[in-house]
Amino acid sequence: MKSDDTKFPFQVPDGRFDQKFEMFKRARWDEAIAGWARSSRDAIVFEESPGLRQRDFALRNAAWNIEFEYGRGNSMSNSGLYSWSHVSDKTQPFIDAGRPVTGTPVENASCVKQAARFLGADLVGICYAHPNLVYSHEYNIISQAHYPLDLPEDHVNAVVLAIAMDYTAMRHSPNAVAGAATGFGYSKMASTANMVATFIRGLGYEAVPSGNDTALSVPLAAAAGLGEVGRLGLLVTEKYGPRVRICKVFTNMPLAHDEYRPFGVTEFCRVCMKCARHCPSNAVSSSEPTTSGWNISNHSGPRKWYVDAEKCYRFWAKNRMDCTNCINVCPFNKPSGLLHDGVRALIKHQPVFNRMVVRLDDVLGYGKPMHRKEYWEA
Ligand code: SF4
Ligand code: SF4
Repeated sequence: MKSDDTKFPFQVPDGRFDQKFEMFKRARWDEAIAGWARSSRDAIVFEESPGLRQRDFALRNAAWNIEFEYGRGNSMSNSGLYSWSHVSDKTQPFIDAGRPVTGTPVENASCVKQAARFLGADLVGICYAHPNLVYSHEYNIISQAHYPLDLPEDHVNAVVLAIAMDYTAMRHSPNAVAGAATGFGYSKMASTANMVATFIRGLGYEAVPSGNDTALSVPLAAAAGLGEVGRLGLLVTEKYGPRVRICKVFTNMPLAHDEYRPFGVTEFCRVCMKCARHCPSNAVSSSEPTTSGWNISNHSGPRKWYVDAEKCYRFWAKNRMDCTNCINVCPFNKPSGLLHDGVRALIKHQPVFNRMVVRLDDVLGYGKPMHRKEYWEA
């Protein structure tokens, strides 16, 4: 697919990224990291401490179950709920009988967004599906096959969906309760992306739902107006901070694009550094943005903060658990409320107070780890 940089609001890398070099994929084939990466697949041993008991892992596994059983967008594209073409026997006759709706791109976008919110998206935006953000190759983590990947040529629009994760459970990172919040986010991604794609097919167009597979979610989400990319390398949204998972639906439906909507994150990140300070593996940069990443797991090129995925994953593997500490401590993570929304407005309109906001955030104890506290009610 030929790219059109004029349709994208910021610089993207010159070439496409081979998904084989993404950290979770490398853990399956890269001998250089095999020694420590293997321990991430060791059997879990329950412990009699908060977040590590049998019921904590039962919750985590239940939350992941839709993704593991029916989604698999964490492992490969075009499978299960993320199928590029499958529609159930119940909806197929209706789709075959339909003709493409003929609204304007603005009308179509409004209609798809309303449906997406109804079907479970907490945030939704639309952008140009820049070809350089589509993986050049896919590494199928289940079969361990490696092959070229291409979206259909005319799927030039991306409907980007953000799913918010549970604030309280996530604060227990890095233990199984926080893992449940993450897993539930993945399971909701799979069902929502599937239903939004089915809705678009019902309007007479083609639709490709995608989880972590197929294309890089974070820059697409930023371009679709859902937020900015923070120091921690994730999308920071105005309402939920970085506490979201992202999925997307690529389509040939004519859709109006949203605008990139920065709200002060980059300026705030320059003085904040809470994610860098609280990262247990020193994976988050404390320096100025650069144009080159730490290792082959970074898609270098644009000037930004790169996260050292090797250090991050080494901690995950050693801890036998995923970690969301950087999300928890981010001052944008807090739930909505008079005070929190007021602070967000201050950051957006009066960046001169950014240092004071960070100091207050520390003094008030936000982001203190809760992983040694019991999640369950007595
Ligand atoms: S997930 Fe944990 S280890 Fe990885 S960058 Fe965030 S805080 Fe650091
Ligand atoms: S914790 Fe601070 S530095 Fe890190 S992403 Fe959030 S605002 Fe930016």
